[in-house]
Amino acid sequence: MVYGYDLSLLQEVSQRAEEVYEKIMQDTGLYSFIDVGSLRPWELYPVALYANREEYLQKTRMPEWSQGALLGNAIHTFPGAHLSSTLAHEMSHLIFHEFMRQGLSGVAAGRLRWLNEGLAMYEELQFLAPAERSRVQAQKQASLKSEGLSFEKMRTFEPQSEEGRLVHLWYLQVESVVRFLVERGGRLGFSIFLKELRSSKTLDQVLPSAFPGKWSDLTSLEATWRASL
Ligand SMILES: [Zn+2]
Repeated sequence: MVYGYDLSLLQEVSQRAEEVYEKIMQDTGLYSFIDVGSLRPWELYPVALYANREEYLQKTRMPEWSQGALLGNAIHTFPGAHLSSTLAHEMSHLIFHEFMRQGLSGVAAGRLRWLNEGLAMYEELQFLAPAERSRVQAQKQASLKSEGLSFEKMRTFEPQSEEGRLVHLWYLQVESVVRFLVERGGRLGFSIFLKELRSSKTLDQVLPSAFPGKWSDLTSLEATWRASL
């Protein structure tokens, strides 16, 4: 469902949302978990499209740099080159919340913030223009190699209470770790990983059963991820 002023633009946004949804489903293997009746699944996620950036900032009161936001269950954004990547980021969050909500308490799901944000960043990057994506990747690789956080720090990180430079680094790192899990571990394994985490198992339990022969626990994941940088 897309709300806004310009009909042809709204149709374009619907189509983009559908492409984004398909990509997230391919990466996570979560096709079967949402029962939507006759709706296309992405139609569950309302998109409010403002006329332009000024109107978006004024009505949502988001900070200057913001290109999109989740308010309640709706994605608020405005037309522009960022549209697909913003939809990808915010739809990933909605799908992750919906999926985890069916198994975990809010507190338990909060412990997976790194995974939630990492998936959203991973999908966002997939929809950036190639030149922009290469620029981000290069920057990411360099800073993670020299100052990447320990997994312990990454997992307990609370962006609201940290300084800006570290928050930026954390976003780059969680994206990199999710990319590593999906691309090195394989999409099937990643799908099992998500499903088992939802049943309250620990990361040390879930990693070897989702990715047999690849990672025996979190320590081995951390070591191989770091070596890949
Ligand atoms: Zn996010």
